[in-house]
Amino acid sequence: MAARTIDGKAVAAAVRERVGVEVAAFAAEAGRAPTLATVLVGEDPASEIYIRNKHRACEQAGMGSVHHGLAAATPEDELLDLIAALGADDGVDGILVQLPVPEQIDDDKVVAAIDPGKDVDGLTPFNAGLLAHGMPGLVPCTPAGVMELLRHEGVELEGAEAVVVGRSKLVGVPVARLLLAANATVTVCHSRSRDLAATCRRADVLVAAVGVPKLLGADAIKPGAVVIDVGMNRTEDGLCGDVDFDAVAETAAAITPVPGGVGPMTIAMLLVNTLQAARARSLSTTS
Ligand code: NAP
Repeated sequence: MAARTIDGKAVAAAVRERVGVEVAAFAAEAGRAPTLATVLVGEDPASEIYIRNKHRACEQAGMGSVHHGLAAATPEDELLDLIAALGADDGVDGILVQLPVPEQIDDDKVVAAIDPGKDVDGLTPFNAGLLAHGMPGLVPCTPAGVMELLRHEGVELEGAEAVVVGRSKLVGVPVARLLLAANATVTVCHSRSRDLAATCRRADVLVAAVGVPKLLGADAIKPGAVVIDVGMNRTEDGLCGDVDFDAVAETAAAITPVPGGVGPMTIAMLLVNTLQAARARSLSTTS
């Protein structure tokens, strides 16, 4: 194996430690800790674990957190009322609605109802618009985590060929916009792309956010490429990414493992966003 394994756990731990220090400074000045509110509709076991991990991370960073668990049959307007109430609550800096929501609820409507200043998932049309316009705002956590890993690895993005596989609002599109903002030459591939491997082989930086186990093999890798695997696929053999790690590690310069790569970064960047939202709100109330 030639490739360096990018240790997402270590980078995430460093980010979380830094956030902890900054949270203490914020709390000393503002007289309160940044606070995240989470909302979960229904009892999906995987979502419950994600929510629990987010609350634990808040606690470890010295942040406050509150949770609202709603029954699976909750009507859409009840959820919208809760989101409006959290938006108006001065004690709440960040609002996170765990997706997916049950089918009687329109997830686009729910996301759009979140106060953009508290949108710590960075998914509202407002924050997506700021990102599209290259303006500062709250950036989705996983894409922000991808960029933090590239920064930590010292990857030169200016002028680099970057290929992103996947075009979701949650990962692919925001990653592409962030790479573009960092002056990479960006290509976005998706399910209708022709000759995926040939396009990926152009990439100095390859980001896979697809959801198909081991879709990308050695034939999709340029020698010396940096490969970021966002995929989290549960298979009979356990958790794996969208990249065939063992095959690709022969050719790439560096690659994130699954688990232990991008995954830990997502929660770390949620803490960063919650602190950012708290600071912005504190500035707007004092100015
Ligand atoms: P998604 O909304 O399902 O989007 C998947 C994207 O992949 C779509 O744009 C789709 O193309 C494209 N695609 C599907 N099959 C393809 C193929 N054979 N060739 C090329 N492109 C293909 O998924 P997502 O929310 O972006 O998540 C992607 C993966 O990342 C999943 O495994 C998810 O679990 C993981 N994830 C991980 C984290 C983390 O914290 N590590 C966070 C979020 C997501 P079309 O647009 O044409 O359909």
